Amino acid sequence: MSTIGYLGLGIMGSPMAVNLQRAGHTVRGWNRSPGKADALFAAGGTEAGSIAEAVAGAQVVCVNVSDTPDVVQVLTGEEGAFAHCAPGTVVVDFSTIRPDVTRDLAAQAAERGLSLLDAPVSGGEQGAVDGVLSVMVGGDQEAFDDSAEVFAAVGRTVLRVGPSGAGQTVKAANQLVVAGYVEVLAEAVVLLESQGVDLEVALDVLAGGMAGSRVLEQKRSLMTGREFRPGFRVDLHHKDMGIVLDTARDAGVVMPVAALTAQLLASARANGDGDLDHSALLRGVLRLSGRDLGTA
Ligand code: NAP
Repeated sequence: MSTIGYLGLGIMGSPMAVNLQRAGHTVRGWNRSPGKADALFAAGGTEAGSIAEAVAGAQVVCVNVSDTPDVVQVLTGEEGAFAHCAPGTVVVDFSTIRPDVTRDLAAQAAERGLSLLDAPVSGGEQGAVDGVLSVMVGGDQEAFDDSAEVFAAVGRTVLRVGPSGAGQTVKAANQLVVAGYVEVLAEAVVLLESQGVDLEVALDVLAGGMAGSRVLEQKRSLMTGREFRPGFRVDLHHKDMGIVLDTARDAGVVMPVAALTAQLLASARANGDGDLDHSALLRGVLRLSGRDLGTA
């Protein structure tokens, strides 16, 4: 069992830190703004007042912050983790960020005698709470093997998918697929509502057939109840579609549905829905259809 510094106790970081503590690790959490460590306290963990304090003496440092510049700041800033980690520390970045920046950060880590694994996750807040996330890991095989007990506490499907950056590339593909599913589910819900069909029965039937999906299971009640508490914020999915489109552009591959979905997420943001769950794409379909948005 390891001493773990956990940086970022948001919607995902908090339950993942809790599961690590419950699994027998010693977790010291740090969050930029105060008041986010209650769940970790309840599980027996502690809170650090700075990144330096969180990572001191830790064998593993986990990171779970919003976007690429945030990970860069938390790791390489003057008061960042790299400056304070002991050589040999494995840094596991659970955030979703740009693959090229991950590779650069891994090279900087190696120069300091540290290992950085990119380990973005899929499965949503519920998957984090239940400790059943899918984790797609890029980086050294040895660092991956050494971190097996960390991954076991937060994930069910944990696979090393290649060298540094590969985890983030696979996650970009994941986010493309999820965005498409959420949007077409929203369109299906609006179509069904427009026909006056019993929505719950209709969605039950869809769930049992080829249209069934984890997205349908997890997002249907948010859409039908018009209750879009995140979950996974529109702002973060917008960020991820930027990664998808930049990666596609660099590779010279063409993805028209990705581009359209990215625009619909941008529209959600522009209409003030950035802090809502991405199932609020439904509100965009309603807007386009001239329908009442209901109460969100
Ligand atoms: P969240 O609830 O918005 O939490 C974001 C966390 O990042 C907060 O702790 C925030 O601190 C911290 N942060 C942001 N910028 C920072 C900076 N510059 N310096 C230090 N800390 C900073 O987001 P989340 O949903 O947990 O997502 C975290 C990561 O996991 C993202 O990369 C996201 O794409 C990914 N992810 C999320 C889900 C999901 O379903 N939510 C699923 C898979 C992957 P403050 O509290 O101070 O703002």
